[in-house]
Amino acid sequence: MDQKKYLSSDELLEKIFYYMSRLFEEKELSTTLFLLTDLGKALVNSDRASFWFWDKRRHVVWTLAALGIDTITIPENSGLVGAAMSGNEILIINDPYNDPRFNPAVDKESGYVTKSILTMPVTNNEGKVIGAYQAVNKINVDGSDGEFTEEDVKRLSLATAFCGRSLESYMLYNEAMEDPLTGLRNRRGLHAHYERRIATLRIFEKASIIMCDIDHFKRVNDTYGHNAGDEVLKFVANLLQNSIRIDDGAFRWGGEEFILLLPHKSTAEAVVLAERLRSLIEESVITFEGTDIKVTMSFGVSEINPELTTEENVEAVDAKLYYAKEHGRNRVISELPDSDEEEDDSEEQTENSAQ
Ligand code: GH3
Ligand code: MG
Ligand code: MG
Repeated sequence: MDQKKYLSSDELLEKIFYYMSRLFEEKELSTTLFLLTDLGKALVNSDRASFWFWDKRRHVVWTLAALGIDTITIPENSGLVGAAMSGNEILIINDPYNDPRFNPAVDKESGYVTKSILTMPVTNNEGKVIGAYQAVNKINVDGSDGEFTEEDVKRLSLATAFCGRSLESYMLYNEAMEDPLTGLRNRRGLHAHYERRIATLRIFEKASIIMCDIDHFKRVNDTYGHNAGDEVLKFVANLLQNSIRIDDGAFRWGGEEFILLLPHKSTAEAVVLAERLRSLIEESVITFEGTDIKVTMSFGVSEINPELTTEENVEAVDAKLYYAKEHGRNRVISELPDSDEEEDDSEEQTENSAQ
């Protein structure tokens, strides 16, 4: 491993400026956290470093082992990270095995030996803790095991202040993309996702779009009240989110209208998914304050045409959704009849009952 000696002030500044420019441009949380982690590690010269992001909605903190690798998630109040975050205090521990807050289980599993740990909360503009830095195993200039000191705290403080800002700007950027009721991304989020994940596909790579809308949703509100309607929206959003793959995106396009963007899926595959979702929703019972509510949904499915804009692709799939609404609802439409063909009232979708 190439162990550098302590960075000089000039080197330190250079490093910080390098990370600053990269971080300001970065819009992906995993890359942001990875860059921050790397910066922290360089600043204190530790063997390992991690940056823990506090997901307050899910009551967990999580970190990236490396880019592209699964995150490690722990309950929000556990371990040294939890202690540093909940008490908003810096913890320097050079004898972790004698500290009751240290959890040696990870070492035991991985064979790694933790000798020193510096844990530092990261705060936002208002001083609220939003994450924590953790540097593990201090390395001295000569390569020997070291101990973390106030000097490391000073160096890391610089990074944490900056870290708080970039993380917060990331969070604000993301909040603007998120629908607060369902937690799905909103219309703005869809456009951002489309630019990143769909518009960048190569010409031979297929992608599909599903647009769906709850049938007679106004009646749900009218019959059971607006709060019950909200519960139904959350239920549907959850079901959609849990039914797609990691590369796919689920979005709340409008009131009770949702869109799924499915890279690498053909229309036929998207139809199978839409049909599965349609039947799952039809079979579901949503309980709100003791009352059972049932809904159905109509679906339009299209292959994305890369020659068209996002809006035009949405319009194309919306036409199919509209057709599904006009022809009995609770169905999946992926093909429209020729415009001059006389309309029959029994346009049936492919009845694909894959579970
Ligand atoms: P269709 O089958 O044709 O889609 O009929 P619909 O009743 O679902 O459609 P319509 O557009 O007439 O009504 C949609 C309703 O969705 C009206 C609106 O009050 C309700 N809605 C939109 N956003 C929300 C929300 O956030 N919460 C609740 N509870 N209702 C919402
Ligand atoms: Mg509707
Ligand atoms: Mg609607």
